[in-house]
Amino acid sequence: MAWARLKSPWILHFNSGGCNGCDIEVLAVLTPRFDVERFGILLKGPPRHADVIVVTGPVTRQAAARLKRIYEQVPDPKFVLAVGACTLSGGAFQDCYNVLKGVDKVVPVVVYVPGCPPRPDAIIHGVAQLLAKIKGGG
Ligand code: SF4
Repeated sequence: MAWARLKSPWILHFNSGGCNGCDIEVLAVLTPRFDVERFGILLKGPPRHADVIVVTGPVTRQAAARLKRIYEQVPDPKFVLAVGACTLSGGAFQDCYNVLKGVDKVVPVVVYVPGCPPRPDAIIHGVAQLLAKIKGGG
């Protein structure tokens, strides 16, 4: 099972309230120029089909409950990849009244990818770190 998961981690992308800059970089990573499908990574819609949740955005109070519910629907073992400064700390939105200042206040995070937005290379580096953690048993 661990070998299969390592060769085909399916991801679910969740924007928790960001400006879409990070989302565009995540999409670039999924398209043929950067091509994370070479790692067997596929974008999926249903949480029950996913192994990894890729979170972007500053995690607003409104989005937090939805993120938590989606996280609970993903089967174990599951992994969260936090992409972008907003997701890590609230970033440009951290002083807003409705921002939680970090996705790890809602769900546990395995790999953090900083940047505003992070370049596709940085996201791929995060993916490689994530795969190494999956290989090591999470
Ligand atoms: S980190 Fe930057 S690019 Fe990404 S959602 Fe926040 S403001 Fe937008």
